[in-house]
Amino acid sequence: MAVTLQTKYPISPITNSIPRTHRPPSLLRLRVSCSVTPATTKTQPNREKLVAVNPHLTNDPTLQSTWTHRLWVSAGCTTVFASFAKSIIGGFHSHLWLEPALAGFAGYVLADLGSGVYHWGIDNYGDESTPLIGTQIEAAQGHHKWPWTITRRQFANNSHALARGITIAVLPLVLASKDPLVHGFVSTFAFCVLFCQQFHAWAHGSKSKLPPLVVALQDMGLLLSRTQHVNHHRPPYNSYCIVSGAWNKVLDESRFFESLEKLLYFKIGVRPRSWSDPNSQWTEETETSNNLA
Ligand SMILES: [Zn+2]
Ligand SMILES: [Zn+2]
Repeated sequence: MAVTLQTKYPISPITNSIPRTHRPPSLLRLRVSCSVTPATTKTQPNREKLVAVNPHLTNDPTLQSTWTHRLWVSAGCTTVFASFAKSIIGGFHSHLWLEPALAGFAGYVLADLGSGVYHWGIDNYGDESTPLIGTQIEAAQGHHKWPWTITRRQFANNSHALARGITIAVLPLVLASKDPLVHGFVSTFAFCVLFCQQFHAWAHGSKSKLPPLVVALQDMGLLLSRTQHVNHHRPPYNSYCIVSGAWNKVLDESRFFESLEKLLYFKIGVRPRSWSDPNSQWTEETETSNNLA
């Protein structure tokens, strides 16, 4: 029997219609539709299937660190270290130890809250054209489509934007102030903010692949754990804090962000993205067996 084989659609990645930064970097998916038509006029129904092509995620350039990324992370870390050193030196000269230590603890606690507020903001409002933080908003939306790619992103690639913000905000303070309390607070707060994307990435990793110290800190509740962060990727998409996650329970149970979203909606008429159809922007795409390797 004579059989003709034809493709209904051009064979091309379906990700072509998605902005580049939203795509799973090396996962090429081909939507192939073949209709097998016998020589007779009787038509068979079309059959579609998804084919996952072997990805090379670890080689994807959008996940690699550049020298610019590394320079900003180096500048951010140097700035944080200088602030920490000023806290120690200032405490030594003024014989103050408890107060800078308590200020440091306050910085750690409030950095978790700050990470939640900022994360909520970029997840829900603005877009890639928003000045200064447009690329972070775009990346945050991409993270909700393909959460697992964060585990393949190199450290400086993942943290350079926050490192740049920390350098610009904290360096003038390092130069202007010698107060050990100020630097006790600022150094810890800035350290946690600079590294919160790394803490976030660890919360997406499997325990067997994480350093034992990280797993221990997660288990103690000092760093964001996977079991806590998974709630952020499920309806109703709360739990925005990504340093220790200590604030998530308080903020979720008090419906703090939901109240803020309603307030903003009634005051300025802007809907947060979390109210939209979860299928459009918030659905987690599971890894294929190829990607899990
Ligand atoms: Zn998010
Ligand atoms: Zn996440």
